[in-house]
Amino acid sequence: MVDSIIIDGKARAEALRASVAAEVARLRAEHGLQPGLAVILVGDDPASQIYVRSKGEQSLAVGMHSVVHRLAADTTQADLTALIERLNRDPAIHGILLQLPLPAPLDAGAVLARLDPDKDVDGLTVVNAGRLASGLPALTPCTPLGCLILLREALGDLAGREAVVLGRSVLVGRPVAALLLADNCTVTIAHSKSRDLPAICRRADILVAAVGRPEMVRGDWIKPGAAVIDVGINRVPFRDPAQAALGRTRVVGDVAFKEVRGVAGWLTPVPGGVGPMTVACLLQNTLTAAKRLAGPA
Ligand code: NDP
Repeated sequence: MVDSIIIDGKARAEALRASVAAEVARLRAEHGLQPGLAVILVGDDPASQIYVRSKGEQSLAVGMHSVVHRLAADTTQADLTALIERLNRDPAIHGILLQLPLPAPLDAGAVLARLDPDKDVDGLTVVNAGRLASGLPALTPCTPLGCLILLREALGDLAGREAVVLGRSVLVGRPVAALLLADNCTVTIAHSKSRDLPAICRRADILVAAVGRPEMVRGDWIKPGAAVIDVGINRVPFRDPAQAALGRTRVVGDVAFKEVRGVAGWLTPVPGGVGPMTVACLLQNTLTAAKRLAGPA
């Protein structure tokens, strides 16, 4: 049995926010440059409201200029696009984040196509995906960037390691794989049509699970000593039937934590692993965008 190291994403995110705050203070003092983030929320999805509030609060806390645009659920495609184009031109705004999902019938792809790629701090435009896939400097989706930061800190140089990414979404799986490849891992991407997932996973020195299936990855899928990054956030009923009957839920990852602990060398918990890194990486991306847009600073 291995004594797994539980990766503390909360502490790492706090350290990242502190380093962003220090750099923001330097830019303001030395260059009069205050990085600015605009977050757009359309409609009243409760989970999105919580995420947007947190993004607004955290960007203010690191000294950024922060604006939240809250739009009604019946906002038209034309009005949303007009807002994006106004923010594209606004010199005080260096990062624009469109909170997804959008209410129907709005078309997220069409709106993102109008977003200036140099302000696309969520890394979701086709231009940034293409830059990442081509090995060019890109604004990278925040959760994948968080995974890479945690892995580099745990393992140091990733070159030559066998990495398996479970999931191929545009938001997580594909960009994680591209980042691991850029760090010279040998990368396999597995998905719902892959055969014999346990055997594929057992090859991995690094396993990133992003499937959205509660506790799918079992203890006997893990190569002893591997680094396991659990991206999944799944709400499941409480084990206690009385609590479950009340509709109470708890959050679990895509990895069966109790089984994998003791086999993996490193393991992220859910909650408290990858999740906290996501907003911290959004701040990091906003800082990167501000520095690139403002020139040498
Ligand atoms: P998607 O649903 O977009 O993608 C899931 C991927 O997993 C797909 O590629 C799908 O394959 C694959 N998959 C689904 N079921 C299986 C299966 N049984 N076997 C093998 N592969 C399977 O999800 P996301 O990538 O957006 O999110 C993944 C998880 O990460 C979710 O739990 C989500 O909540 C969480 N998440 C967490 C974030 C954080 O901040 N920590 C941020 C974003 C997401 P196929 O393509 O073949 O359909």
